[in-house]
Amino acid sequence: MKTSNFQIVPLRTEIAEAARRAAAAGVSDHAVITADSPNGFPCRHCLRWAQLGERMILFPYASIPPGHPYSESGPIFVHAEPCERYKETGEFPANFRKHRVFRGYNANFNMIDAEVVKDSEPEVMIEKLLQNPEIAFVDTRSVTRGCYTFRIERV
Ligand SMILES: [Zn+2]
Repeated sequence: MKTSNFQIVPLRTEIAEAARRAAAAGVSDHAVITADSPNGFPCRHCLRWAQLGERMILFPYASIPPGHPYSESGPIFVHAEPCERYKETGEFPANFRKHRVFRGYNANFNMIDAEVVKDSEPEVMIEKLLQNPEIAFVDTRSVTRGCYTFRIERV
């Protein structure tokens, strides 16, 4: 296992479970979608792409909490069935090496830097951003749709 100065922070299990309960209760902003393409439905809890035919819950998630200039809530997917939270937190998830943007935030949730991954070397981008001591965490998102994927913190 590669040693790195960062760790991957997948979506908390309590949030995935709450989304499953809300979808089961028919809450209007929690939609159940059946995956119909191989790389269109990333689960933020297990950090895998949904397989064709898997049911996913689509719901809004506040990656940057309310009360800040950069407050942000946007759509994410989790598996509708229970899945295992991504465990290899010292390793960048193989499924998301491409098509990601990295946004660096300070401790007050202000975005102070950003990079687009090039040549499939996300570790290089992350370590570059984390060299700035003002950056408290890095969020990675889809470069095309802009959706939050996961957080990266210093070890
Ligand atoms: Zn999952």
